[in-house]
Amino acid sequence: MQRSQKPPDPIERKSLLYKSGLGFHCINHVLGCSHGCRYPCYALLMAKRHGRVRDYAEWRRPSIVGNALVLLDRELGKKGAAPPRVHLCLTTDPFMVGHPEVGDLSLAIIERLNQSGIPASLLTKGRLPAELADSRRFPCDNTHGISLVSLDEAFRREWEPGAAPAAERIAALRQLHEAGRRTQVHIEPYPTPSIFEQDLSRILAEVDFVDHVFFGGWNYSSRVSQDRDEAFYRRQSNTVRRFCAQHGIDCELG
Ligand code: SF4
Repeated sequence: MQRSQKPPDPIERKSLLYKSGLGFHCINHVLGCSHGCRYPCYALLMAKRHGRVRDYAEWRRPSIVGNALVLLDRELGKKGAAPPRVHLCLTTDPFMVGHPEVGDLSLAIIERLNQSGIPASLLTKGRLPAELADSRRFPCDNTHGISLVSLDEAFRREWEPGAAPAAERIAALRQLHEAGRRTQVHIEPYPTPSIFEQDLSRILAEVDFVDHVFFGGWNYSSRVSQDRDEAFYRRQSNTVRRFCAQHGIDCELG
């Protein structure tokens, strides 16, 4: 996708690196996300609740944090234990389709973290850049992840309208795997048949080269009934567990 208009002006923040409620360190160096997922996106709900964006349209026009690298330098220079790993991102996407300024800043942040010996873990619904294979620029054992819940373009257009097609996400991930980099796939939120009918085994077969699989359900919608769908998710979890065991892949169930 080509960018159709000039990106909004950068914003300034007072801090960057933080420890999330999930127990690991994160950096979210962008406000908003052009992918515009409609599961809905929890980050969008929080941004609206806290008055950081007005609506969905504004959310899809992302602003980078202009002072992100200055903040990171300062925060990494402080005394105290360096974080063991830093995740990009929890509330935005580091390789947003149509926004090269986001990807460039993400690469600069990963490079800066690696200079301090801190590996990054990355998760995107965009295309992981091939530059990440460069072990001189990125010397740490970074983890390169894609979020992937369907191979189907009709699903993507309805639920992840601005994200990269699944085939492009997988191709970029495979390229990094073939370059010897650590890879993972994050299969969440996985739709129930009432949302989208598909075969999980087909998705798994496309990513049989990864080091790690995370699988989790679709928890946000009234179209999902925990009782009715419990048996469905139990079966899907068993499929993931068996697949990972057969392929020597680390398995994590949400
Ligand atoms: S890619 Fe992530 S941050 Fe971006 S809209 Fe989708 S769920 Fe939200």
